[in-house]
Amino acid sequence: MDKELDLQKFNKGWLRRKNQDRDRTDRRLHAIATALEQMEGAQTLTETLALTADTIIANFGISGLAVALRNGQGTTCRAAGLHGLPEELGEFPIDSLDAFSTDTRVKRSIAFDARMHSLLPHLTATTCNIFPLQSLEGDLGFFMVTDSRLSKGEIMMISMVAHAAAAKFARILKDAEYEKSSALSQKLISLANTLLDLDGKDELYPAVLRIASDLVEASQGSVMLVDPGGLTLQIACSEGLPASLARDVTVEVGSGIAGTVAGNGEPLLIGDIEQDLRVGSRMRPRYRSKSLVSVPLKVKDRVIGVLNLTDKKSLAPFTETDLETLSSFANLASLMIERVSMLEKSTRFEMLSVTDALTGLYNRRFLKSRLEEEISRSKRQALSLTVLFIDLDGFKRFNDLCGHLAGDDALKKVAEIIKTTLREMDVVARYGGEEFCAILPDTGKGEASIVAERIRKGIEQEIFNNGTLAVSTLTASLGIASFPEDGTSFTTLLHAADMALYRAKAGGRNRVMTALKENEEPPQGFRPRQQIIGV
Ligand code: GH3
Ligand code: MG
Ligand code: MG
Repeated sequence: MDKELDLQKFNKGWLRRKNQDRDRTDRRLHAIATALEQMEGAQTLTETLALTADTIIANFGISGLAVALRNGQGTTCRAAGLHGLPEELGEFPIDSLDAFSTDTRVKRSIAFDARMHSLLPHLTATTCNIFPLQSLEGDLGFFMVTDSRLSKGEIMMISMVAHAAAAKFARILKDAEYEKSSALSQKLISLANTLLDLDGKDELYPAVLRIASDLVEASQGSVMLVDPGGLTLQIACSEGLPASLARDVTVEVGSGIAGTVAGNGEPLLIGDIEQDLRVGSRMRPRYRSKSLVSVPLKVKDRVIGVLNLTDKKSLAPFTETDLETLSSFANLASLMIERVSMLEKSTRFEMLSVTDALTGLYNRRFLKSRLEEEISRSKRQALSLTVLFIDLDGFKRFNDLCGHLAGDDALKKVAEIIKTTLREMDVVARYGGEEFCAILPDTGKGEASIVAERIRKGIEQEIFNNGTLAVSTLTASLGIASFPEDGTSFTTLLHAADMALYRAKAGGRNRVMTALKENEEPPQGFRPRQQIIGV
């Protein structure tokens, strides 16, 4: 009978405990469900971490809880105590994360071993349960419960919380990365606009260096350029180096840090020069700096230079993020450097050219040198020489009514008319927009007036725009001046022709006027063209 009573008692107790267990499990599951819901709304890593930790601590009788989370760049893992452990537990390289990997099917505690202890020296424990934080992006770290006897069911529930936290961490890290890269893109766009305003190398190189230094908070740096032969690098601009030294530094492509970067086109980050094997011990004393970052300036696959930055203002070493930021900026800077050198090349090219691109006539620069030559030849041979200045009438209106393209066509046609009216030996140039100038060697005023009249008529009779647009006719005014009576130099002769042209305009346009006499008083309202244009 007693036995039966005992059994009944035992059954009752068992049933009660069972019911209690079930209630507790229900409570815990309910708490977890609530926590997961709240986690959805969490905005930051800290918030998510606090929610997760509170849920685990409040619902499971654990003696210690720690978390290890990788940093934004995924290079190291930092561990912190969340309950019953010191706050700072240490930081270790991401590669060592495997020391904490457990077979996730094994739902039991494992020994806190020597390797774990060496990575987390501030943590003392005998056993631990590891809950990996795994996401689609890879391992983010883990939660660790220390010295606690967890049942299989408890381990499963904590795993659930850890899974959800991992997914949330991954999303937050990704968002942060995205925000960082879009902030950088924004910044680069505004920098591009700043750099586009600079047309000369003298302004561009210092601007590139200044911006790069600001981006990574460097205190020194240099822009080095590969010479046209591709064998050496020279400093184009530097900050923090004595100018005399900067001028003389030549680095061979392939040797030293900048030389290596130029040679293989890969960026280089050196956290601590003392420790780095890539810096030969012979070279070490040369670097007063401790940390440096060096990125190639590339156009397509061609390395055109190297951007070097040393020593952060905070004295901290440069990071992978600095390297990424600088590499993005280096792409932009390279484009700008290439743009400026193209601009300079084309300006030099233009300086060398003698013809006007639109009409194919000689340009003003060439006109000047030819007229000077012709004047001295005329002087030597005691010949006369005449200059014609031709300006289209009301051409602005023509442009306004017919469009710029039709205007360009008209200019080409006028150029052709002038050229075909003149002789082979005459020189015809486009002086400015709708202004032309011709040199007629060995020609006096009388003869030149006849030719000028022919040009005037030729333009007047031409049908422009095939007669299809608002305006299909044009006229021109011409001024004539001769050597030696109206002037004996480029400036005085052109001035005299210009004044004559002014009178042609003032007299009603579509006419030819000749210079009156040397030292003619400028007509009222006359503004010399040479002063306006600057030749
Ligand atoms: P005026 O009879 O007093 O000479 O009047 P204008 O309108 O010809 O004189 P103005 O100098 O005020 O205007 C010249 C115009 O020529 C201004 C510009 O629209 C036009 N022009 C200058 N260069 C070019 C060019 O290369 N192509 C075209 N299509 N138009 C040009
Ligand atoms: Mg005009
Ligand atoms: Mg004009």
